Amino acid sequence: NKFEQLGLNESLLKAILDLGFENPSEVQEKAIPLLLEKDTDMVALAQTGTGKTAAFGFPLIQKIDADNRNTQALVLSPTRELCLQITNELKNYSKYEKGINVVAVYGGASITEQARDIKRGAQIIVATPGRMQDMINRGLVNIKNIDYCILDEADEMLNMGFYEDIVSILSDTPDEKSTWLFSATMPQEVARIAKQFMTDPLEITV
Ligand code: AMP
Repeated sequence: NKFEQLGLNESLLKAILDLGFENPSEVQEKAIPLLLEKDTDMVALAQTGTGKTAAFGFPLIQKIDADNRNTQALVLSPTRELCLQITNELKNYSKYEKGINVVAVYGGASITEQARDIKRGAQIIVATPGRMQDMINRGLVNIKNIDYCILDEADEMLNMGFYEDIVSILSDTPDEKSTWLFSATMPQEVARIAKQFMTDPLEITV
């Protein structure tokens, strides 16, 4: 099993066995060792369907401190559907890692229930930008101490008009975190976000 050679721990390898993944995809092979090795910013050019969720999800789960209930990571994604899909994947990845809580935050559902779930202790929040901004404005979430921020399908989020929300949300996170940006294409707006909020990102393309 080539996943063992990427530096993933036992509980992840067990979860991967359950998922039935036999070999890492190209983006996983390139991203996982780099993200595990050190805390770094990364820009990954990868289409959907390439296995990018696991490319950031496996290292993220390994790096989360399950004993600390504070929010440590924020994943931003363009749609409610993708938000729920990523949340479900991260829950599968962390099934043998006790105490990791992943909460989905998206529009069109009860903000009170989402806030309650966060308050119970969510190390990872997976959110759409509009609802996330709403929760920040209402003081229902604290992302001032996160260690990891993942921008998934960044080009899609910007196509959908989330530039202002993304800038505002990122401005509410600490400078010292690691940012992992995934995008199928690199239009000017994505490059601008990367330039403004990332430091010497490693670049991978698949
Ligand atoms: P994604 O690009 O993250 O949306 O993943 C696309 C699909 O590929 C999902 O259904 C994953 O479960 C699946 N997948 C991801 N990585 C692998 C892998 N290494 N082996 C087999 N299937 C995978």
